[in-house]
Amino acid sequence: MKVLVLNSGSSSIKYELRDPDTGTALAAGEIGRIGEAGGLPDHGSALGSVLRALRAEAGGPLADLSEVDAVGHRVVHGGSHFTGPALLTPDVIRRIEECAPLAPLHNPPALLGIREALKVLPAIPQVAVFDTAFHATIPAEAHVYALPYEYHERYGVRRYGFHGISLQSVTRKADATLGGGLAEMKAVVAHLGNGASITALAGGRSVDTSMGLTPLEGLVMGTRPGDVDPGALLYMMRELGLDAAQMDQVLNKESGLLGLSGASNDMRDILEAATAGDERAGLALDVYCYRLRKYIGAYAAALGGLDLLVFTAGVGENSPAVRAKVCEGLGFLGIELDGEANTRACGADADIAAVGADVRVLVVATDEERVIAEETVAVVARSR
Ligand code: AMP
Repeated sequence: MKVLVLNSGSSSIKYELRDPDTGTALAAGEIGRIGEAGGLPDHGSALGSVLRALRAEAGGPLADLSEVDAVGHRVVHGGSHFTGPALLTPDVIRRIEECAPLAPLHNPPALLGIREALKVLPAIPQVAVFDTAFHATIPAEAHVYALPYEYHERYGVRRYGFHGISLQSVTRKADATLGGGLAEMKAVVAHLGNGASITALAGGRSVDTSMGLTPLEGLVMGTRPGDVDPGALLYMMRELGLDAAQMDQVLNKESGLLGLSGASNDMRDILEAATAGDERAGLALDVYCYRLRKYIGAYAAALGGLDLLVFTAGVGENSPAVRAKVCEGLGFLGIELDGEANTRACGADADIAAVGADVRVLVVATDEERVIAEETVAVVARSR
């Protein structure tokens, strides 16, 4: 079987051709700079490039595009409509469009990718897999904001949560690394990429997560601030005269590690600069790690204990320094790292807890494309 996995962003399309039976990637790549100088003009021509790259004439694995059995699209926001993946129909597309204002950076480009793929591969079943769906199990006490209730009831203003596709991959791999037992555990998963979130899991199901209505709430990220007093935002709008579009820019593009350091959104640069004595980079690192530590404590309280802590995504998988700094002082919860195992753990799934510590601590490499490919196959099989 061959499933084409597409992740369409505002200026890029990431793709992987997966064989879900073996779990292998047959081809992978990214077309960037869409709509920018020196790049392709639009998502249609970018998808054309992807399909050309997959063909044997260009060194790809396909003699003919008809060998693709299904297409799986990553869609960030499924709102209240979707608690699982869905076969793309005009009605499903309409409902994804309805969710677009909730994820203005993510859903519109995903829709562009979907429309173009349906145009060029009309005979192949296509499926949307949602990042929000995994969090449908979060109870009301954790997903309702204490705003006037009608905003929740009438307008769907609530916590949805994100990184659900990654969480599906990570929970499954963590369970395998542990030799089973996740279903009985109280667990916290920290997905630390350019976007970052942390999720509390009871018995493998999400019961709380740090991102909210949008992917802005919670942890410090590359360019997003995470939690901020909403009053601070009102102050900036009222007293400093920023309008909604300017606030959007500040909160999505100019904050987080970049805003604090004034230098970079990349944790590698922050670590290097902090080590070299740059004060603002040091502050950015401190704020990032402190916020994470605070959330781990909060979720241990929400769960009534903690058995497992998992680190994943770019920073979580690759930075022993961040993992060590976050876990510092969490001994009272039973979190204690094996320093050597932590330093060694990069890329492959590993247990980095000290021998005898109460909480298992895992580093797990997330594989979102595999989950999208498998979900796509399952939805297509059900629809037949
Ligand atoms: P992701 O969004 O999961 O691809 O993660 C991207 C982020 O991971 C980058 O912005 C980097 O900050 C971070 N990252 C990747 N490799 C390392 C590393 N070796 N040490 C620290 N951070 C890293």
